[in-house]
Amino acid sequence: MITIACDHCTAVCCKYLALPLDEPETPRDFDDIRWYLMHEGITVFVEDGDWYVQVQTTCRNLQPDSRCGIYETRPKICREYKAGDCDYTSGDYGYDHLFTHPDEIVEYARDQAKKARASTRAKNRRRPRPGSRSTGLPARAGS
Ligand code: SF4
Ligand code: SF4
Repeated sequence: MITIACDHCTAVCCKYLALPLDEPETPRDFDDIRWYLMHEGITVFVEDGDWYVQVQTTCRNLQPDSRCGIYETRPKICREYKAGDCDYTSGDYGYDHLFTHPDEIVEYARDQAKKARASTRAKNRRRPRPGSRSTGLPARAGS
């Protein structure tokens, strides 16, 4: 028997919205995200390198039987969303990162800062010191 996934789902896709976020770079950006995550129903995720804030909120058009109350005139974003590769059927979100609590973004920001410092140190080590000269020629044997 062929079944349609939506008939068995409680309309997971109609109960949130996700909005793109600029990738955080500064301490202030990370602190803003920390604030988002202090709110109930907010998560932040990174997918394919892109950042999003997700808000758990049910669409006003969702009917008690989990069907769309404005099916014929539903927005394009709803029309484009395909059962089969959706929240209910796929379950694999492929997140690069998922933040559900303010402490998680603080830890992530610390890690990023640590990596940035390590990378700066490594670059500085590779740079010739001021005053050191190189002929660009290989050293002579025995020299
Ligand atoms: S598209 Fe997927 S998540 Fe949305 S109602 Fe259908 S099965 Fe559920
Ligand atoms: S408009 Fe309809 S399909 Fe779109 S989110 Fe609302 S209930 Fe779901």
